[in-house]
Amino acid sequence: MSHQDKKHTRRDFIQQVAVAGAGLTFAGPVNLFGGTGGAAAGGNIPSRGYAAMDASGILKPWDFERRPVGDHDILIDVKYASICHSDIHQMKGDWGPQQYPQVPGHEIAGIVAAVGSKVTKFKVGDRAGVGCMVDSCMKCDSCRHGEEQFCENGQTVFTYGYPMKSSPTGISQGGYSTNIVVRDHFAVHIPDHISLQEAAPLLCAGITTYSPLMRADFKIGDKVAVAGIGGLGHMAVKLAVSKGAEVYAFTTSPDKVDDILSFGAREVIVVDDFKKMAPYKGMMDYMICTIPVQFNVAPYVSVVKPGGTFTMVGMPDGFELSLNNLALAASRVNFNASLIGGMPETQEVVHYCADNNVRPRIQIIRAEEVNDAWAKVVNKEARYRYVIDAATI
Ligand SMILES: [Zn+2]
Ligand SMILES: [Zn+2]
Repeated sequence: MSHQDKKHTRRDFIQQVAVAGAGLTFAGPVNLFGGTGGAAAGGNIPSRGYAAMDASGILKPWDFERRPVGDHDILIDVKYASICHSDIHQMKGDWGPQQYPQVPGHEIAGIVAAVGSKVTKFKVGDRAGVGCMVDSCMKCDSCRHGEEQFCENGQTVFTYGYPMKSSPTGISQGGYSTNIVVRDHFAVHIPDHISLQEAAPLLCAGITTYSPLMRADFKIGDKVAVAGIGGLGHMAVKLAVSKGAEVYAFTTSPDKVDDILSFGAREVIVVDDFKKMAPYKGMMDYMICTIPVQFNVAPYVSVVKPGGTFTMVGMPDGFELSLNNLALAASRVNFNASLIGGMPETQEVVHYCADNNVRPRIQIIRAEEVNDAWAKVVNKEARYRYVIDAATI
């Protein structure tokens, strides 16, 4: 290394530390790099978030700590975190008992504030996003093929509420917070031609609908149905329209009709009575359903043509859904369910939406409005994704 190079490296390092320190208070810059030993020991990173303290579904401000930035980690200053219905389900214990305090949030966008010594994927100042996962074994077939959500060693760590030894709180803590430390592999780049606030919802709502839509492999002009037009559903409509499908949207909210047509849907069917679905029987090549509660699946399945596919991406209470077997058998509909998508595909959907002007419809809120916003999500009043401005946390 020449003298010149050395000077550069040192200057870059000082700049990195300066940027990292701008939004946070550290005992000393060396504390950023916990994995490098010596003086770095004990350098947890202070964070502030909105956390559930119990199963009431009420969030409160909470100061906690993140792990130090390890060799393969990056520290992201969170700028925006959006609200997914899953956050609400999990904090309320709808999917099983939880450890509290727990910070929800798995649609996270911000700026890289520090990088570990072995990180090459990001540099300080990069725009970065984190979605539903923050770690996995990285060694099994699924992990090596970019399907980390299916880690065969059961080591997928989802972004909040999962046991995580490295976390000072013992569990992963999510994105309704001022910062997050994450292994670089589980962060994606956010290109300059999409805003951070519009990129955030792509990290769960975007990838969760994009992944099965891509697997459905529909042709231009095929009839694609979307059931449940909330955060996920409105992205499914926009993505399917963008890919050339003729989109039919099924909603229970009459006041969403104009919006959904403006997203490019061919028709919007207001399902206030299942008889409304009869004219569409057997018409759809494919249906993606985002309804996040228990519902009567049979009428929805009936609109799919024989041999067509129905994909469930909503997650009801207790993860359970009752199916009428005859409804599936009568038209030999293929029923499947899908969970998020792997990291390469998550990066792909962010680029796809940035490049093709596919944007979520968002409403920015202040952190103290989060409990009101949650109530509106539950009452189907969200239009269509609430995004928390992390500067207000
Ligand atoms: Zn989600
Ligand atoms: Zn694995």
